[in-house]
Amino acid sequence: MRIRVIGAGIAGLTTALEFASAGCAVELIERNEKPGAGCSTVAGGLLGPWCETVENPDPLLQNYGLESIDYWTEIVPVAEHRGTIVVAAPRDKPELHRFARHTSGFEACDSARIAELEPDLSGRFEEALYFPQEAHLEPRVAIATLAARLASIPHVTSCYCMDASLARGTVDWTIDCRGLAGRDALPALRGVRGEMVVLETREIELCRPIRFLHPRHPIYIVPRAKGRFMVGATSIETESEAKITARSAVELLNAAYAVHPAFGEAEIVETGVGLRPAYPDNLPKILRADRTIRLNGLYRHGFLLAPALARRVVKVILEKATFPEVMDETPGERQGPRDHLDDARRPLARARL
Ligand SMILES: Cc1cc2nc3c(=O)[nH]c(=O)nc-3n(C[C@H](O)[C@H](O)[C@H](O)COP(=O)(O)OP(=O)(O)OC[C@H]3O[C@@H](n4cnc5c(N)ncnc54)[C@H](O)[C@@H]3O)c2cc1C
Repeated sequence: MRIRVIGAGIAGLTTALEFASAGCAVELIERNEKPGAGCSTVAGGLLGPWCETVENPDPLLQNYGLESIDYWTEIVPVAEHRGTIVVAAPRDKPELHRFARHTSGFEACDSARIAELEPDLSGRFEEALYFPQEAHLEPRVAIATLAARLASIPHVTSCYCMDASLARGTVDWTIDCRGLAGRDALPALRGVRGEMVVLETREIELCRPIRFLHPRHPIYIVPRAKGRFMVGATSIETESEAKITARSAVELLNAAYAVHPAFGEAEIVETGVGLRPAYPDNLPKILRADRTIRLNGLYRHGFLLAPALARRVVKVILEKATFPEVMDETPGERQGPRDHLDDARRPLARARL
């Protein structure tokens, strides 16, 4: 079977690899000169199915999220398994308690436990939540690994610098993974602006992402290689692609400084802006029309959900399977795969603060 995948963001790359692994001839078309040049390249790389339920309790995030963490561990092994720590400024302690009420799978930590997990945070916070089963990855490493894997498969052709409208030749199926550009065919899609900064300092070491509860944006710091830290992300209902605003930069940098004052001396080595493709319910969809499938709406969860979604796209075509939880157009009719977690993957019992 011949498959054309349009867009080499995280949705397109994972989908192309799944089809190639199933033995299909795959043509991957990307309009930029390299993969991941859209929204995917500025992502934080958090794989946080428990923390994300605070914003959206739909079981899809956890079920598909856990499956994707397995993918980033076994199939494309780029995930780091060190969990996530959630903290708040002393005045925002009620926010931390509220977060605890709306999540599960965490250990409530006192200051001694925080110091044990993250020695550089010693004495900085009295309480924290530790989600040991969460993971993270470096998006650009994940993208490069997927692209290299695809380049090594003889029945995959990757075409960069090429707009999909120029694609010639018939294929059996087209998979549209154009992110926000796919809106010409998906009018419900909107862009949600996310801004980030990357800091560099040798004065702090963190082993795992730190989420800092903030009244306006869920801000986090993700440790990267070579003393770098991605600080993200704003979430603003606008489709402006202008550079990061002063206000957002101040908020992100203030949060980093509140986590550790040594971030005040860090170098700002990068700033970035991306438009997250989102449906009204902020959950992804696999929509089918004739011989085209549109995989879109990954919102804040591209890396968290793309592998599980890509697998389902392949099953829809090769096995004629259906997945109502992501194929129903009306969110109100969504039926989640609520009970397919096996015991080993079930969240830990909720601890009390
Ligand atoms: C600041 C920020 C932080 C984030 N952090 C996280 C996180 O921690 N964890 C997480 O899971 N998610 C995160 N996300 C969300 C994640 O980045 C997105 O969900 C994901 O990147 C969407 O992927 P996509 O492949 O659908 O779209 P995109 O990455 O935008 O890819 C679409 C691709 O299609 C190409 N394209 C468009 N039109 C055409 C055409 N006509 N022809 C050929 N190619 C075309 C584009 O060039 C692009 O490469 C974050 C997002 C932002 C902005």
